[in-house]
Amino acid sequence: MAHILYHYSVSCFLSSFNAMSRAFILAGTNLGNREENLKFALESLAQGGTIVRTSPCYETEPVGFSEQPWFINQAIEMETKLTPHELLSVCQGIEAACGRVRSFPNAPRTLDLDILLYGDMAIGDDKLVIPHPRLQERRFALEPLAQIAPDLVHPVLHKSIRLLLEICPDPSRVCRLPTSDPQCCL
Ligand code: ADP
Ligand code: MG
Repeated sequence: MAHILYHYSVSCFLSSFNAMSRAFILAGTNLGNREENLKFALESLAQGGTIVRTSPCYETEPVGFSEQPWFINQAIEMETKLTPHELLSVCQGIEAACGRVRSFPNAPRTLDLDILLYGDMAIGDDKLVIPHPRLQERRFALEPLAQIAPDLVHPVLHKSIRLLLEICPDPSRVCRLPTSDPQCCL
C-alpha cells in the first residue's frame, strides 16, 4: 500500500518545464528481499522519468563496515526532467518508502540510491555532490556502470568509465549475477 501511494506522490513531483537530462543512479540493497527492493526502486524511478537501460546485477562485498550481508548493486540510466536536487529528493523518498532507516555511515540498508552522474554537470553543495565523489574508488559502482556506459567520460576526471574501472584500486569482490535478460537481472 505504501508503495502504491508513493508512486502517486512521485508523479506529482514531476515538473514539466525542465529540459530532459540523462542521469546514472546506483541502486544498492543488503537488507530484506533484495530482488524486490531493486524492483521497487526501478518501478518508482520510472515515475520520475524514463528508464533507458539497467546493468546486470552484481553481488558485492560490503565496503567500510564488513560485518553485514553482501549487497546487490545495479546501475540505472534514466532520462528525466527532474533537476539534480529534485532527483535526490525523489531518490530519498523511494529509499524511505522501501523502509530504509538511517543509523550509522555504511550501515546495512534496504535501499540506497546514489546519483553517480547527471549529464555533464559538476555540483558540490552540502546536500549533493555530482559526479558522486567516491565513484572512482568503488568497484561496486564502476563495474555495473561500465556495463551500460563504458565510453562515458567523467566530466571532472576526464577519463572514461572503462578506464576508471581499469585503474580502480578497490580490491573488494564484485560478482556478476547470472541473467537471461541482458536488460535486467530481475
Ligand atoms: P551513502 O550513500 O554515502 O552510504 P547516504 O545514502 O546516507 O550515504 O547519503 C548521505 C547523504 O549523501 C545524503 O543525505 C545526501 O544528501 C548526500 N549526497 C551527496 N551527494 C549525493 C549523491 N550524488 N547521491 C546521493 N546522495 C548524495
Ligand atoms: Mg546513498
